[in-house]
Amino acid sequence: MLDRPNPAPEAPCLDPFVLAKALSGVHFIGGRFAPAKSGRNFAVVNPATGAEVAQAAEGDAADVEAAVADAAKAQKEWAKVPARKRGALVHKAAALIRDHVEELGRLIALETGKALRTESRVEANTVADVLEFFGGLGGELKGETVPFAPDVLSVTVREPLGVVGAIIPWNVPMLLMALKVAPALVAGNAVVVKSAEEAPLAVLRICELMNRVLPPGVFNMVSGFGPECGAPLVAHPLVRKVTFTGSVETGKIVYRTAAEKLIPVTLELGGKSPMIVFADCDFEKTLAGALTSMRFTRQGQSCTAASRIYVERPIFQKFVDAMAEKVDQMVMGDPLDEKTDIGTIISDGQFEKVKAFIEEGKATAGATGRACSAMPKDPALKKGLFIQPVIFTGLTRESRLVREEIFGPVTCIFPFDDPEAVLAEANDSEYGLAASLWTNNLKVGLNLAHKLEAGLVQINQNLVVQANLSYGGVKSSGLGKEASLEAMLEHFTHKKTIMVNMG
Ligand code: ADP
Repeated sequence: MLDRPNPAPEAPCLDPFVLAKALSGVHFIGGRFAPAKSGRNFAVVNPATGAEVAQAAEGDAADVEAAVADAAKAQKEWAKVPARKRGALVHKAAALIRDHVEELGRLIALETGKALRTESRVEANTVADVLEFFGGLGGELKGETVPFAPDVLSVTVREPLGVVGAIIPWNVPMLLMALKVAPALVAGNAVVVKSAEEAPLAVLRICELMNRVLPPGVFNMVSGFGPECGAPLVAHPLVRKVTFTGSVETGKIVYRTAAEKLIPVTLELGGKSPMIVFADCDFEKTLAGALTSMRFTRQGQSCTAASRIYVERPIFQKFVDAMAEKVDQMVMGDPLDEKTDIGTIISDGQFEKVKAFIEEGKATAGATGRACSAMPKDPALKKGLFIQPVIFTGLTRESRLVREEIFGPVTCIFPFDDPEAVLAEANDSEYGLAASLWTNNLKVGLNLAHKLEAGLVQINQNLVVQANLSYGGVKSSGLGKEASLEAMLEHFTHKKTIMVNMG
């Protein structure tokens, strides 16, 4: 298939530039690296410098066909492997990922611009956590006995769906892929992943590493653009389930295609997550929580970013000032530098989009946008896609900045006077992914937690998605859950009823 030996180094490679080159120009299909059938590649760019660091195989329907055909063949045998053995293999793959955490952290920092210390290394470790978690769940793929009639044995069994198509975005590509691939594989499915065009390398390396312990063909990966490579994957007749994380618009396209085939989908889409701060909160803890909640270390490129912050009026101004001061202390710079807290935006397109939101906010009458953190001074980074975090006050609920997902380091803070009013504001959104509440009055907190329209509500913390906790949105934020036992059972298997008449 490929006219050169396995291009990926066997041992961890700590030079991400070398590794990026080594992983150039290939998909991973049927247990091997394979170039695009068309021979075409596209550039992978380091957003901190604008320099090309690799070429990725530009997949199309022909590559998808090859990957799905291999997956379908491999899945038949994979489904016969006892569930706990499948889990044990995924667990073994976790150990390999653990050995490569540093390498994967550096590689993802290079291709996405996310800082190594605050984001990229953390993400690589979490991938191993997720594989370990799902690797231990093989024994949970069990059915029930149903009390139908005394002389009829009625049982349910969980069966895999077949080939799963997984489409992932660029913001946390390794983790979001692991959340799809691990439960799908443990449940006995084979998977074809379509990586995000902006970040195809670290996920390809993970695919190759996991294939060292998995049978060939059960985990395949193609890189390429959405309409040319993602769409044929969703439409392929042998793909019996699609799991997608990305924008609402693309999610709807995926859902329509899936509807034609009558296959199940899981959709993790956008968010406009509110953070509600009461005057009785632990101020310092909440302040630190606001920085984490807004995912400033990920340049705000997170579906769960606290992009709307509501602060009870008595502490509003103090909170705004203190938050801006804290963000000022965050270091923007080379994503590969250990000192860096905040890296870059992923791509020129996103950079322009975020800038346009900021300009619009600044031009809004009555609004103030406070830019925080100093831009990096290193001349090597002058073409880097750095954006200063901006904290807006004085915007109204009609503003696009308050209604739309910016996916950048931009948050809007508002004062509020009573819990019912802030609840109405928080729920006034097309999205419903996540929310956080900060108060020492648990009665108020729990009451609001029940009324907030969101898939995940946290009180006095705002963590990112965690293995073992169901994660997924309501309203335009998506369909279905990920990250949990429920996700594996409900979204990667179907329940068959078997009845035996013993009368
Ligand atoms: P973003 O704007 O954040 O990149 P998208 O929803 O466009 O979000 O992209 C998320 C993933 O969906 C990427 O892997 C992208 O290539 C893929 N994608 C984009 N368009 C389509 C499509 N029409 N069908 C299937 N996948 C698509």
